[in-house]
Amino acid sequence: MRESEAGAWSPADPVEVGLAEALRRAMLHAATPRAIDGAGCLLLDADCSLRYVTASGTPAEALEVAEELCVEGPCHEAFAGEDVMYADIQNESRWERLSMLLSASPIRTVIGVPIVLDGRSIGALNAYSALPHEWQDADFQGLHESARTIADLVQQALDLHLDEQGDELTGQLRAALRHRDRLSSAAELVMHSTGLDRAAAMLRLRQVAAASDQPTIDIADQVLARGRLPSLTDVATNAAEVRRTRREMARLALTDPLTGLANRALFLDHLEQAIARAQRTGHHPAVVFIDLDRFKTVNDSLGHEAGDEVLRAVAVRLQEVVRGQDTVARLGGDEFAVLCDAPTRPEVAEQLAARIARTVAEPISVTPQVPGSTPGHDHRVTVRASVGLATVGGEHPIRATDLLRDADMAMYDAKAEGGGRVRLFTDEVRETGHRRMHLELVLRALLDDVDGGPPHEDVAKSFRLVYQPIVTLDTGRIVGVEALVRANHADLGQIGAEELISAAENTGLIAPLGHALLVQACEAAVGWRGLPGAEDIVLAVNVSPVQLSDPGFVRTVSAVLARSGLPADRLCLELTESRLLESAGTTLDTLFELRRLGVHLTLDDFGTGYSSLSYLSQLPVTRLKLDRGFVTGLSTGANANAVARAVVSLGRSLGLETVAEGIETTEQARRLREIDCEFAQGYLFSQPVEGDQIPDLLGMGVLSVEGRDRP
Ligand code: C2E
Ligand code: MG
Ligand code: MG
Repeated sequence: MRESEAGAWSPADPVEVGLAEALRRAMLHAATPRAIDGAGCLLLDADCSLRYVTASGTPAEALEVAEELCVEGPCHEAFAGEDVMYADIQNESRWERLSMLLSASPIRTVIGVPIVLDGRSIGALNAYSALPHEWQDADFQGLHESARTIADLVQQALDLHLDEQGDELTGQLRAALRHRDRLSSAAELVMHSTGLDRAAAMLRLRQVAAASDQPTIDIADQVLARGRLPSLTDVATNAAEVRRTRREMARLALTDPLTGLANRALFLDHLEQAIARAQRTGHHPAVVFIDLDRFKTVNDSLGHEAGDEVLRAVAVRLQEVVRGQDTVARLGGDEFAVLCDAPTRPEVAEQLAARIARTVAEPISVTPQVPGSTPGHDHRVTVRASVGLATVGGEHPIRATDLLRDADMAMYDAKAEGGGRVRLFTDEVRETGHRRMHLELVLRALLDDVDGGPPHEDVAKSFRLVYQPIVTLDTGRIVGVEALVRANHADLGQIGAEELISAAENTGLIAPLGHALLVQACEAAVGWRGLPGAEDIVLAVNVSPVQLSDPGFVRTVSAVLARSGLPADRLCLELTESRLLESAGTTLDTLFELRRLGVHLTLDDFGTGYSSLSYLSQLPVTRLKLDRGFVTGLSTGANANAVARAVVSLGRSLGLETVAEGIETTEQARRLREIDCEFAQGYLFSQPVEGDQIPDLLGMGVLSVEGRDRP
């Protein structure tokens, strides 16, 4: 700003340009000369809440209005009297609602200072930057200067008003305050005056009180404490205009632009009201939490616009199955929620949840946008949903956010059980949910400082690998070992591989964890080289699709191989078939790069996904692993027999090796041998064992193949 370069900025005269304009200019001045992106302020309103007043531009305005709506944020904290600073406001866990409202805004880092008039905080001023910003003392000093300017401007406007209309009022106040016993009537006077009169009366009361004796000050404070503060926002702004902006911002801030449904903030607001009403009426409001299953595949295979069409269609269907008083919201991504308001019987909500699951699962027509699809030809997709239900019950009051979280936990269980189903929130769901959250916290604490860096010693100690031999089915000779993760925790006890991996994926910690495990496994395998029977065993390590979609993954693998000294063709990475499609686009290139390194690739749990033949034939994998489910069914189900036979012959025709996993009985082994399955793994041969037992197993050379010769 030019004025500031000349060092000659002075606030505009509020009498001349109006206070609103004077404040707006002060705000521009607060932002521009410091090369930060914006500033905005909130001031106290008559009802004691902080209200948006003015900002330097749209994002700052959005921040202030969001703070007003959510009743939380840096301004609210600075208002308490302290300077505040937040490095990443969108990921600040203390403000759930605010961060959500700002998720589309460029605002990242924010500082805030109080605005003080007559020794009292009357509001707060924020400055923000869209990029990481090293805030300096000078930034705070500058912001304090602006806060003082704002306080002066407000004072000027009030004085002006008093000069025009306040003489009589001031006289009455003085008279009232002269007599202690009439102090309360001074307070009354303040309370019964309205609008600007009250604002003026209030300030004057304080000024007069400050000049009088101690009890007077106490009374003035009491009046203030009763919440009858001047409506500074009325004084400070062109009220009508602000109300309009605020309404529009509120509308935008409370609805989801894609579907027009309520967003999370509005949903929580309705839910809070429903819960409050329920305490009087004995109703049972319920929350249905809906998460579409494998929605990402729709986006990846048909394009994002088709994905949006699906979301809009789901929104319409949800609105059709609820009643007028219910609220349907899109919480973000492919997550929806329905507030089933005031059913008197809990079964009503259960029926609604079941109806929702059914209606979502009906086919949806979309127009694919991906190259190769025929223009004008609609595509019918079927998406199923995992649905969780939580109801207000019992005597304990429950908060809206808690009820939503309960429904979310129930949904999570529905998803973990394969999706496409409804789960009711129960104590058991609570326990697994809490355990999961606990586990995620433990993981975060452990892995916080290793992200990207070399694996930390503590991490290696907390997770160990066990190894399960892979053998040739006809001779029982060990040809490889698969590394499987295990963990033990003082509070959580034994943590299974699937539980651990899913928690690591949820928290984004799978990359450092996967890295640590790969190092551990490769080092162990190098230790076994040269032992009798270990000449050509291959180490198999499971890899999560989340790891694969990390652009640095191939580099990580090649660095770990180089450092440990394990030849690339002694390593085989196992990828779960059903989850490979999750990151189909990026994954294919990665797989080819891994093959170029010389690493082998296995499609794990084969038969559970929906890989088409054409997709499969493009994949540079070297081995298929027949899912345990089919092996288990071998002795009983004709279907499993047919699938096993088909997988083995498919593998053969594509030139791939086939491993059957989870073999527990000699009967299963026999049937697999009949269909010429080459390799095997399962408790029949060996359980997963500790790394130090592997040399003995290798020394034996051959594992039990009993039953081999039975008919
Ligand atoms: P997976 O890769 O298909 O591993 C086979 C699972 O079946 C292992 O369970 C193994 O202990 C179990 N198993 C082996 N033989 C038998 C048998 O005869 N009968 C029965 N009932 N089970 C058998 P685990 O160790 O609990 O691992 C579960 C899954 O967790 C693995 O399935 C894999 O997808 C994942 N996982 C394990 N370790 C890791 C890891 O280090 N990284 C990643 N990303 N995933 C891992
Ligand atoms: Mg595996
Ligand atoms: Mg498997």
